Amino acid sequence: MIKQYLSIKGNYPDAILLYRMGDFYEMFFEDAEVASKVLEITLTSRNKKEEFPVPMCGVPHKAVKAYIAKLIANGFKVAICDQKENPAEAKGLVKRDVVRVITPGMIIEDEFLDEKTNNYILSIARYSDNVGISCIDISTGLFRLTEGNDLLSLAEEIRRVAPSEILLPESSKNDRFLSGLVNGLNGIPITYLDDNNFDYKKCRERLIGLFRTFSLEGFGCEDKKAGICAAGALVFYIKETQKQSAGHFSSIETYNLDKYLLIDETSCQNLEIFKNIRTGSKHGTLLGVLDSTLTPMGGRLMRSWLRYPLQNREEILYRLDAVEELKNDVTSRRNIREQLNTVYDIERLGSKIVMGHSNARDLVALKNSLLTLPSIKYIAENLKSSFFVWDSEIGELSVLAQLIDKAIREDAPPVINEGGLIKEGFSEELDILIRAGSQGKGWLAKLEAKEKEETKINSLKVRFNKVFGYYIEVSKAQAKFVPSHYIRKQTLVNAERYITDELKQYEKDILNSQDRRNILEYELFTQIRENAAKLNPLIQQVAGFIARLDCINAFSEVAHENNYSRPDLNDEGLISIEEGRHPVVEKMITGERFVPNSIMMDDENNQILIITGPNMAGKSTVLRQVALIVLMAHIGSFVPAAKASINITDKIFTRVGALDNLSSGQSTFMVEMQETANILNNSSSRSLVIMDEIGRGTSTFDGISIAWAVAEYLHDLDGKGVKTLFATHYHELIDLALTKERVKNFNILVKEWNDEIVFLRKLVDGGTNRSYGIQVARLAGIPGKIIARAKKILYKIEDEHAISGAPLVAQSGAGSKHSQIQLDMFTKPEHFIVERLKNADITKMTPLDALNFINELQEKTNKACLD
Ligand code: ADP
Ligand code: MG
Repeated sequence: MIKQYLSIKGNYPDAILLYRMGDFYEMFFEDAEVASKVLEITLTSRNKKEEFPVPMCGVPHKAVKAYIAKLIANGFKVAICDQKENPAEAKGLVKRDVVRVITPGMIIEDEFLDEKTNNYILSIARYSDNVGISCIDISTGLFRLTEGNDLLSLAEEIRRVAPSEILLPESSKNDRFLSGLVNGLNGIPITYLDDNNFDYKKCRERLIGLFRTFSLEGFGCEDKKAGICAAGALVFYIKETQKQSAGHFSSIETYNLDKYLLIDETSCQNLEIFKNIRTGSKHGTLLGVLDSTLTPMGGRLMRSWLRYPLQNREEILYRLDAVEELKNDVTSRRNIREQLNTVYDIERLGSKIVMGHSNARDLVALKNSLLTLPSIKYIAENLKSSFFVWDSEIGELSVLAQLIDKAIREDAPPVINEGGLIKEGFSEELDILIRAGSQGKGWLAKLEAKEKEETKINSLKVRFNKVFGYYIEVSKAQAKFVPSHYIRKQTLVNAERYITDELKQYEKDILNSQDRRNILEYELFTQIRENAAKLNPLIQQVAGFIARLDCINAFSEVAHENNYSRPDLNDEGLISIEEGRHPVVEKMITGERFVPNSIMMDDENNQILIITGPNMAGKSTVLRQVALIVLMAHIGSFVPAAKASINITDKIFTRVGALDNLSSGQSTFMVEMQETANILNNSSSRSLVIMDEIGRGTSTFDGISIAWAVAEYLHDLDGKGVKTLFATHYHELIDLALTKERVKNFNILVKEWNDEIVFLRKLVDGGTNRSYGIQVARLAGIPGKIIARAKKILYKIEDEHAISGAPLVAQSGAGSKHSQIQLDMFTKPEHFIVERLKNADITKMTPLDALNFINELQEKTNKACLD
């Protein structure tokens, strides 16, 4: 047996091999050592007495799914090795083989998957100068491909797909570009395959074979050789792991990386589009606000729309028109929601059916979903927007639904080989077997009565258990009356158990018919499943429509509920938002009412907006709300504003100064600067850049200088500049507007009242030069003693500046002045006295002036010493 094990295991060195033995899956050797730790199960050993016992551990086959899920979640691959023949009939060792390898990227079971998230495996290949990227979701049949040669967009695409597993050619280990691409993708398992499997010719043939076409022309990827290599390797890997070709992949979608608005991964995090920075959950994110989809495929599509915002005006308008129509049509919207509520995940169901992994319950779920199609179609046909054109012929699906309805029991068990699947009245042959079974019950009752009668034992019962099958039980007291042809089987405390020849013969018959029934039910079931599998292309088409309908309906619903409005799109470089709100913050704040703000950006006078204001004023919120509104307009959603006109944008970059960046750990100044460099190198005049407290992670004057220089650079980029929102509490930056024509100052109003501040949250023209840090500190609960002390220090420092007379930053590029100021800041009191003495023009002083002058110096000195 160990020999058999080792020869099978040899083919799957990088997977944990689950070796079926009776009711258990066993693991041996190193697999056992690793798995027992991960699964927290006992490690034992086989042949304990021998010199080198074999480590082993096992899990019951009935519970294996949970264990597999745990292994996969920990990044392992699992090879499932089953018995290929009935152990009872096998001569010698039972034949075994691997029936499937489950890897993090190759999961079909919905139990292991998040309903509203796609599970991708992504493959990367190189062909001459290009790098191809292809990904599939085997649970849905989604298959895409692209290629490019620009490191940033390729790297961002990989992050955007967020795969659970990556395929790479073996040789990529020595390829600096390819290994650079996957560097820093911590935690995603990488599978290296022989370069052979990425060979262009073979890959192209594999794809043509899978799609049964003559060329790849129809998929728009015939010329994307690198992409074909990546995609072909995936097809190979499916076959290798699933032990079948992936019949449900009927086409591949080719896309260009520059077709979509790029929001790099860091910006996604900063803007909290998918993940709440603090909690990691969907709550408190843009997705959380927008995603009121009802079906799993709708949920997945919503995520994908957010990941891939459009840049094509027509495509955006196409969605917006549809959203508008449903927003205004309350009845249809409500009807659609009602119908969608009864639709299951037919996209994944269809794929499972094709791959032969579905059970009777899946078919029932499919049926229930298919039954609602006519009503959905009816609603869709009564809508006007071209988005809702229903072009699938659903007649065949109705027939399938009827077939399933007639055949499959609603209460079928999850396993498919133990009967209980098929309704009575569906198959005559089966009905006969079923009747035989139920007559058996009557027969047993009769037998019990007959035996009681003959033996006069009134405690006699006929029973069944798994160990003995049918038996007769008699109480201890009456056991002596048992006739001689009873064969004793078991003695209990109070009873004896017997069998008879007659009972055993009967049992054989009945078990035979039960077996026959199970086999027949299984056959009938698989026939129906094959019927359904043939219709999968249609099921997928309908699933696609439903997903889109679900997303549009969600947008309409959210727009209605939150009072969003339809954005205009322009190509004139204008971002104009009237009474805009932050879609998430407006829902999260309690107590305070959200104050809307208007903002106008163009490429003439309002390209770089410097927004100053004390901490807590609402700078970050305004910045993010502009970025989110721009993003929302690009996915075809309405926006939280009274009115908005949005320039078609190619990239959104958001950077947050180190201290403001909550994503802890690596929030170092270095990272902040690397990210800033990345923006400067990649933004264009159609980009939107959000800089929130850039330069904060270093000393004040370094910070001001860096922020200043970065803003200048963005202004001058390519002679055109980049639309930028720049929040800073360095009010020195307002002077930038003096020298740079497209820079404009704004600030967020606060009101001082009795030495306290009130946040008005209103964005207004002009800069501010007050920080109110101490007032904010008081609001935050810093003890009064400390506040008083801080005020004294502040007074002193401000005074010193007044005396030294130097404006903090007089003009750009005044590097030497910065260091001068820095010196002043930290000099001792004597120094400014020396300074004043040096600068005083005694020749112009009257004696009284001189006396006053000395008096002033003396007072300052005393005060400084006192403090
Ligand atoms: P800053 O970046 O200026 O320090 P934030 O943007 O982080 O300030 O805002 C601080 C808090 O103020 C937010 O968490 C939010 O609760 C509240 N806030 C911000 N903007 C508004 C607004 N327009 N209306 C109401 N509350 C707001
Ligand atoms: Mg802030």
